[in-house]
This record gives sequence, C-alpha cells and structure tokens, in this order.
Amino acid sequence: MKIGVPAESKPGETRVAATPETVKKLCARHDVIVQSGAGLHAAAPDDAYAAAGARIGSAEEAFRAELVLKVRAPDARERGLMAPGAALVGMLDPFDTDTLAALADRRLQAFALEAAPRITRAQSMDVLSSQANIAGYKAVLMAANAYGRFMPMLMTAAGTVKAARVLIMGVGVAGLQAIATAKRLGAVIEASDVRPPVKEQVESLGARFIDVPFVTDEEREIAQGAGGYARPMPADWMKRQAELVHERARLADIVITTALIPGRKAPVLIAEDTVRAMKPGAVIVDMAIGQGGNCPLTEYGKTVVKHGVILIGEPDLATLVPADASALYARNVFDFLKLIIDAEGRLAVDREDEIVRAVLVCADGQVFRRQ
Ligand code: NAD
Repeated sequence: MKIGVPAESKPGETRVAATPETVKKLCARHDVIVQSGAGLHAAAPDDAYAAAGARIGSAEEAFRAELVLKVRAPDARERGLMAPGAALVGMLDPFDTDTLAALADRRLQAFALEAAPRITRAQSMDVLSSQANIAGYKAVLMAANAYGRFMPMLMTAAGTVKAARVLIMGVGVAGLQAIATAKRLGAVIEASDVRPPVKEQVESLGARFIDVPFVTDEEREIAQGAGGYARPMPADWMKRQAELVHERARLADIVITTALIPGRKAPVLIAEDTVRAMKPGAVIVDMAIGQGGNCPLTEYGKTVVKHGVILIGEPDLATLVPADASALYARNVFDFLKLIIDAEGRLAVDREDEIVRAVLVCADGQVFRRQ
C-alpha cells in the first residue's frame, strides 16, 4: 500500500506524523512517500527518511497515497489533493464539526486519534497523553525562564534564596509531568483537581493536594468524571475551589493551569481578582488556552503582563519540543495502524473494534458524531 507523510502546513506546527524509526518499519511492507522537508523541524532530514527506505516526494505525491499520516487535519487545498476513499490518520479534532464535514465531503475515511478510549489496549496509541506529557514538562521550563528568581532553595555566601512555590491546577497527564518537572527543579508544589484519585498521585510525587470538600453526593458523583475525563463541576463546588485557590495563588510564584473538559470551554480557575492578589513577578502558564483558558486574562499565543503577573498563553506547547513530540506521536500512529492494516498489508477497517469505532470520525461521506 502507498502511505504518504506530508509536511505540516499549519503555522507553528513543527511535528511530523512519521519519523525515520517508524518509516523504516512501515517500509518493510509498504511504499512510503515522505514530502521533502516534512521532518525538518523534528531533526529528521530527508536523507534520514531515504535511508529508512522512503521515497522523498512532493506534497501532491504524499497526499495522493491510499493512507495519509498527518499531525493536523489537512486544509482545503490539501484535502483537494487526496483521493476519494483514502484513509487519513491524525489529530483531527473530533469536536471540530466543520472540518469533519469537509473531510466527509471528500469521502475520506478519517481517524481522529484524540478520540481513542482510555482503555489499556489503547495506551500505546494515546496521542493526548504522549503530547500532554511533553507539554507539561515544557510549561514548567517556560515558567522558570520567565520567572525572575531561582526555582530551588539556595544557601549561598550572599544569603539564602527561598524555593519557588508552584501551584498546579488540573492534574491529568500534563499536570503530573509539570509536578515532576517542577520537583526536579527544586520547587515546593501544591496541586488541585476535581477527581479524588488524583490526591494519591499528587502526594506520591512529593506535592501537597489542595482538598476542596464535597458537600453533596451529587458533587462527589460528578467529580468521578467519565471515561477518565473530568465533567463540569456544580457552581457551588467551583466557588469553594475558587476561594481556596485564591488563597494558595496569593502565595504562589508560578501557577500552571491544565484543566480541561473534553468538548467544552475550559473551566475558569484563576479569576482576575486572584491574579490581582498574586505577587509581582509571579508567572501563570495557561495550558488550557486552546480551549479558552483557565484564566480570563491570558491571551492566545502571547506573553503579557497584567497586575504585575506574567501570563503565558502559548498553545500547543508540545510543538516546542518537536523531535521528541514527533517521536512519541509517530509511535502512537504506528501502533494504531496495526488495527487498520491486515496481515497482507491492506487497509482492513474493523468497525466492531472498540478503538477503531471510537476514532473513526467519518467514512462513506458520513460524519460520526461524538457524544
Ligand atoms: P485532561 O487533559 O482532560 O484534563 C486535565 C485535568 O484537568 C484532569 O485531571 C481533570 O480532572 C482536571 N480538571 C478538569 N476540571 C477541573 C477543575 N475545575 N479543577 C481542577 N481540575 C480540573 O486530562 P488528561 O491529562 O487527559 O487525564 C485525565 C485522566 O485520564 C488522568 O487520570 C490520566 O492518568 C488518565 N488517563 C488514563 C489512560 C488510560 O487508562 N489508558 C490514558 C491517559 C490518561
């Protein structure tokens, strides 16, 4: 089968969907065409792909393949290059109904890997986790860079420097990695999440969990989440959380917010009043900015200073670690392909398979809606 690996065209997208490592494995059974320059930002030059067995070609050739591997959904021009009936694998945004309709119009068979269920069998193809892990790491480094003081406690001949206090809001994959990274840099860490099992994970990394009490059974039930994801919490609980967060944020030097609810706007966790109460020179990295942000003052794609606080609203932090983000993403894609390619090396899409069914967002001109 012909497999195409186009270069990404979205501004700021540095990743590539297949690396020389995964291309080498694919070339054992397939004809792989990599667009010239596709791996440029990810430390994967054309000659590395050629050495792995790929043919280096144009965008037209890469998009014309029976199976196209992408990071982002193709734009209108790119969709136009694809053959009707071709398969497309990528982070296609399963909640972006316009893009999905456009893919269906081209009669593409599209797989949005973000929609994979959180079951053990799907772990090796979990793109949200692989990319969030990298983003959580990078968020701490960006914060440390913007912060005008040290992260660790230091005792020097010129006096003692206090360790930075870091507050992590939302402890999923990104938040856990942010805790681990801030810990390695010597910070003192507190963290908050709605899901009760997170407390133990936070404490096992040496951070303190901010307990927001549950008053009703309904609150406790909603906080369990669904399918491994959080659900929107009732207003009363959010108010109690905001009061506690306000007190902890006043003492913090760095706040990293990661709280997301699939398919919805991100919850507001750091209100303007809280920012106003924070120390001058404190830093907020709002990792939820792509979904509207956890802090209303952060601005998409910008670093701004408001009320003396540095607010970083960089989306897609994983793109700032392009080589490893691509390496992990490409392995996720490679593992997923095992589910849709049969022993003869042909596309064989089993719609009864739980993972395939979840990620197949359109086929035969039809969009399959998310819940
Ligand atoms: P996410 O990116 O969807 O959200 C980030 C975090 O924000 C979550 O922990 C969520 O609970 C939290 N959050 C939402 N609203 C909040 C609020 N109001 N206040 C504070 N926090 C709030 O989450 P994620 O990184 O995708 O991970 C979610 C969970 O799924 C984690 O426990 C992770 O370990 C688990 N997971 C399981 C598997 C698997 O079993 N295969 C794979 C990946 C992740």
